[in-house]
Amino acid sequence: MVSEEVSGYLSSLIKPRNSLLTEMEQYAEEHEVPIMDIVSIEAMLQILSFAGTSKVLEIGTAIGYSAMRVAQRLPQCHIVSIERDEERYLIAKEFIKRANLESRVTLIFGDALEVASEIKQFGTFDCLFIDAAKGQYKRFFEQYSPLVKQNGLIVSDNVLFKGIVANEGKIAKGIRTMVTNLRIYNEMLMANEQYETTFYPIGDGMAISKKK
Ligand code: SAM
Repeated sequence: MVSEEVSGYLSSLIKPRNSLLTEMEQYAEEHEVPIMDIVSIEAMLQILSFAGTSKVLEIGTAIGYSAMRVAQRLPQCHIVSIERDEERYLIAKEFIKRANLESRVTLIFGDALEVASEIKQFGTFDCLFIDAAKGQYKRFFEQYSPLVKQNGLIVSDNVLFKGIVANEGKIAKGIRTMVTNLRIYNEMLMANEQYETTFYPIGDGMAISKKK
């Protein structure tokens, strides 16, 4: 993983965001809402932009920060995003409304493992972005990867979970299952011949998988 010093340095080089995004960043910090690391999000946005992504399915909206970042960076892109926490979903709705992005960001309230039939009505996607319960990534992948187009991308955030996933020592009991599940998921991604996967040790660890 990149050291805190390097990560802080890289973050300091990134331009300040607009006032609404800054407000969301402050809200996230004050209310302990986990939003994507700023260095990882910049890398993801660049890759989606290179790939000409025009339709994204996000699992884990939180307050809508990453959905808004994608929508603002890719002006042709439509984002469908699922969130199971009602309070966060409602806050995200309000932020998306204030940014005038309601026509391009569709928020779905519910558990991603239970709303697949609702999501299927949106057809296929250029990108599946998985950023929700870390112990469930394999299930999210199994449920939604069939909706990713050929040559499309699957972005999985937090796959190194603070570096602990790579730690061979004893893992604290409370996170053991989640870490085991992330390891199984990472190995599954690498073994899956339908995808070409690269791991990026930035932020909390990000995997990008391209569907062949
Ligand atoms: N992508 C957001 C961003 O960067 O702005 C951050 C998402 S946050 C890390 C993860 C979110 O996923 C939480 O708000 C949590 O409530 C939601 N979540 C976790 N498991 C979920 C599930 N099974 N279905 C829908 N949402 C889920």
